[in-house]
Amino acid sequence: MRTNKQKMPALFIGHGSPMNVVSKNDFTESLAALGKKLPEPRAIMVISAHWLTPGTNVTCSEKPRTIHDFYGFPQELYEIEYPCPGAPDVAKYLIGSARKVTIKCNNDWGLDHASWAVLKHMYPAADIPVFEMSLDYSFNEWHPKPMQYHYDIAQELATLREKGILIIGSGNIVHNLGLIDFRNIDAQPYDWAVEFDERVKLDIARRDHAELINFQKINGAAMAVPTLDHYLPMIYVLALREKNDPLKFTYEGFQHGSISMRCFQIG
Ligand code: ZN
Repeated sequence: MRTNKQKMPALFIGHGSPMNVVSKNDFTESLAALGKKLPEPRAIMVISAHWLTPGTNVTCSEKPRTIHDFYGFPQELYEIEYPCPGAPDVAKYLIGSARKVTIKCNNDWGLDHASWAVLKHMYPAADIPVFEMSLDYSFNEWHPKPMQYHYDIAQELATLREKGILIIGSGNIVHNLGLIDFRNIDAQPYDWAVEFDERVKLDIARRDHAELINFQKINGAAMAVPTLDHYLPMIYVLALREKNDPLKFTYEGFQHGSISMRCFQIG
């Protein structure tokens, strides 16, 4: 695979509700602006909060299907397709180059809304090849894989940036569906949510990755991160930040009171 001279940035995107795909708001506008500003990627890899598997998988299909992995939303959302090509060559390159982890090729999964609801705004033409990587959600004696494990295996992805691949971790820093105000996107965010999100922002800025790996010690963590799925994609992006990579928060704010939409770019 050819090497791009310019190393690609990597992104963490807080994707929030699938409704954002058919909305126009300051969050979706920030995604559209980002898509125009970034160097054009050769392919995109999305680490998805919505694809949880035993072990780590990547999608290897030539034509990934659009997965509508949500319930009770308006019909128009189920009719949206994101007909981009897949990137089996990049997925297989990653499988072959990874040393710390065994990655499996998956031909069944396609793109869930952690990918397409974001990419629809960033790259509406759907002409850039996309593949997904899953989160290893296997449990051992009832314990999930430690956060440090994810941080360590994420470093295997670093070479992709040099090959023109845009890596996107897609989740949410604060994600509590139990306390969400479904009806009001502009609901006042909870105090604990704001406090947790601000602390994470500070830690990202000062590169305190140890605190972010041991996030349970941060005030509000139990409410902000009731399950690991939406927090984990951020850990992968943090692990990719190299010494000289600048950091930019490309969006910050809350939706529905309990969802932080914070996004950032490294590199
Ligand atoms: Zn989600």
